[in-house]
Amino acid sequence: MRAQVLEAFNTPYVLKDIPKPPSPMGKDILVNVKAASYCHTDAVFASGAMWQDLPRVGSHEFAGVIVAMGPDVSSSLGLEVGTAVGVPGRAFHPCGTCYQCSNNDGDPEAYGVYCTKAGNLGLSRDGGFQEFCTVDSRQVAPIPEGMTAVDTAPLMCAGLTIWNALGQAGVKLVKGGGKGKVVAISGAGGGLGHLGVQFAAKLGCRVVAIDASDSALELVQGVAGALGQLGERVTIVDARKQSADEVRWAVCGQPETSLEGEKGVDAVLVLPEAQQALEYGMKLLKDHGTCVTVSFPKEGFLIQPRDLVFRHIKMVGVLVGRNRQLRAMLNFAAQENVRAVSRTYTLQELNSLVDDYNRGTSGKLVVDMTQ
Ligand SMILES: [Zn+2]
Ligand SMILES: [Zn+2]
Repeated sequence: MRAQVLEAFNTPYVLKDIPKPPSPMGKDILVNVKAASYCHTDAVFASGAMWQDLPRVGSHEFAGVIVAMGPDVSSSLGLEVGTAVGVPGRAFHPCGTCYQCSNNDGDPEAYGVYCTKAGNLGLSRDGGFQEFCTVDSRQVAPIPEGMTAVDTAPLMCAGLTIWNALGQAGVKLVKGGGKGKVVAISGAGGGLGHLGVQFAAKLGCRVVAIDASDSALELVQGVAGALGQLGERVTIVDARKQSADEVRWAVCGQPETSLEGEKGVDAVLVLPEAQQALEYGMKLLKDHGTCVTVSFPKEGFLIQPRDLVFRHIKMVGVLVGRNRQLRAMLNFAAQENVRAVSRTYTLQELNSLVDDYNRGTSGKLVVDMTQ
C-alpha cells in the first residue's frame, strides 16, 4: 500500500510502498483511510521537537472506512465493517489502570484519552497519511449522515480541541447552550479559530473574532458570511487597528466609572503563540472571566498575577478532548453544518501541501485519498 513516510527530521515526506497492516487484534480495527488532515503538530513533529522515533507516517486527524475488526471490539461502540469513522490521534492502547484510565468521565470503560502510556497516531505510531491504518476502536467516532471524509478529518484534532475549549470557557455544549455568553476568539482566522467561530455562533454565543493578518481576516469574513443571519452574532476585529478597550466597549457597552470590570467578554480563547494575543485577550475579559489557552509557546506566556488576583480571571488549558466529546462535536457539526474551509491534495502532493502550509495558506489542508 502507499504511504507518505517521514524518514528524517526537516526533510520532505517520501512516498513509499509499504506492507499493509496485518489483521487487527484485540480491540483494534483496520481503517481504509479516505482523508487525512495536516495539523500544526505535524510540522512541529517533522522539525524534530517531539518524539524522536523515525520513520513515521504522520497525520493524527483523519477519516475512513472500517475494513476489519479485532475479536474484542465492544458492540456498545456501534461499529462494524463498512462503518465510516473519524479518527483522532489520541489514545491508542491506554494502560487501562492509571488515574486517567480510571477517571475517564464517560468514555468507554478503562479508556483514558490522557493516559500517558497510550500511543498517539501520527506521532508515536503511524497515522493517516497511508492507505490503511490500525487504530484503537475506542478512539473513533462514526461519521454522521451527510458528512464526507474530507469534512470529518479536520474536525478530529482542530474541531475537537476548539469544542473542548468552548466547554472550558463555560459554554454549555448543546444547541442554544451559549445564549447570553460573549466569547472572544483570538486567532479566529486560523485552523482552530474559524471552526470555533462557527461552533460558538451556532451554540448561541456572541462572538468576537480577532485576527491580525489580511488573509486570516478574509477567511473569517467568509465564515461569518456563510453563517447567514447568525453572522450578526460575530464581530470581526483587526487587532492591528482596533484597541482592546475600543472593542470591549463597542461589543459589551460603556461601563460606569469605577465599574469597568463589569463590562467585557465572558471568555477568551487564545489560539496564537504570541504574547500580544494573550494580553489583548486579557483586556477584553470582564472580571471573573475565563482565559482558555490552547497554544504553548516555547518561551512561555507572561501572566500578570494581578489579573488573577484582583479581577479573578481564571486561566485554563485544553488538549484535544474525550471520546464522548468527539462524538458530540461531530454530531453537532453534522446537524448544524459546521465545516472547515479546506483545500485538498492527493497523497502524492503531500509535500506541496506542506509547502503551502509553511507559506501561510489559510484554512485546513487535507489529503483526499479518493482523488
Ligand atoms: Zn493536531
Ligand atoms: Zn492509563
